[in-house]
Amino acid sequence: MTSHKLTKRHLQSIKKSFEYKGRHEELKEARRQRQQERAQRRGRPPRQRDWHDADALPSREKMRAASALEAPPSPSNASPHPEPALAGTVIEVRSGESLVSFEGRTLRAILPAAARVSGGGMRSPVAVGDRVAIEPVEPGIVRIVSVLPRRSALVREVYDPSRRDPNTQGQVLAANLDLVVVVCSPAEPPFRPRLIDRYLVAASRDALPAMVCLNKTDLGVTRDVEAMLAAYERLGVEIVRASAVTGDGVGSLRDVIAGRVSLFTGHSGVGKSSLLNALEPGLALRVGDVTQSAAGQGKGRHTTSSARLVPLSLPDTFVVDSPGIRAFGLHGMRPQDLAAHFDDIAALASACSYADCLHRAEPGCAVKAAAHLDAFLHARLESYRAMLRELG
Ligand code: GDP
Ligand code: ZN
Repeated sequence: MTSHKLTKRHLQSIKKSFEYKGRHEELKEARRQRQQERAQRRGRPPRQRDWHDADALPSREKMRAASALEAPPSPSNASPHPEPALAGTVIEVRSGESLVSFEGRTLRAILPAAARVSGGGMRSPVAVGDRVAIEPVEPGIVRIVSVLPRRSALVREVYDPSRRDPNTQGQVLAANLDLVVVVCSPAEPPFRPRLIDRYLVAASRDALPAMVCLNKTDLGVTRDVEAMLAAYERLGVEIVRASAVTGDGVGSLRDVIAGRVSLFTGHSGVGKSSLLNALEPGLALRVGDVTQSAAGQGKGRHTTSSARLVPLSLPDTFVVDSPGIRAFGLHGMRPQDLAAHFDDIAALASACSYADCLHRAEPGCAVKAAAHLDAFLHARLESYRAMLRELG
């Protein structure tokens, strides 16, 4: 086994990586800005929400009226992507059709076959959260004409070796997100930081903020778990400690997600549904009703693995409930780009003997040396290496 003599340079670099004070300040500033934004949003009338099913369709007359009413572009209101007269929000994507909310109604929307094959290399060009231009087909049914530009997208890269360039195909899990909330628990199931790391990497790659919600704090939080959470906090990750059972921390979680579109994810059984119900009692029932009647299938609550956009009663607040994205691959990322998404590892890399060290088993690896001294970094390096192995 190689012994790792820590040079002065190593030690300085290691020390630097543990100095997270600056990060704390950044985090505080980001929080302050968010609070300000929220306060501003609260001053505005809430954006319309529509989750009552109705099968009425915007009539052609109404469409015409809507386009006639559209103000001609002027220098002051011209935008590079003006919204068309009929634009809806995709709340669920299924095979063959989607559900789109439009002016207080949930409509079935078909996607023309031609559009399914285009979409910039994406497997499905329409995702939950997308704003789409629509046109009527028959009562209750519309056609998706185009997908409007996204402000963000969480992408799962799909590995398909039969493609010439297997790394270019992605699936947009959700569009126009503001936040990824990784839910975990201290026990039942046990705390597993790997999934947290995976989502932190994916969110970082897609330029989305991510946070952790530790649910089930009523079961007790061990010192080890608390130490891990504190280490994530020092990395700048916001942590909310909550219990869907006692209601502890649910108010804090509500404050964080207010006015945003958040994706809730995490291992099965950590309490995502329970948390959503605690945030908004009666939510599951209401969502089940909408899904059921809008599709006219009477299947009850959502049996597919597709994600859904669910409104909360707070203004401009939505959650994406995504049962089917537990296996979240990072195919498509270049191995040499992975470490940049691990701030603690990246901070140490300059002390590695090789400039292009991938922190696998290279001699003189400062990350490996430091991981011997720090349990959290050790776990992070394990996560990193597991992801690296996937990237080939
Ligand atoms: P999901 O799979 O992540 O949606 O998890 P569920 O919401 O279905 O919850 C899984 C199990 O954990 C259920 O038996 C819940 O009653 C339980 N559970 C959820 N939240 C809490 C909590 O805060 N404390 C405790 N003790 N149990 C919880
Ligand atoms: Zn290294």
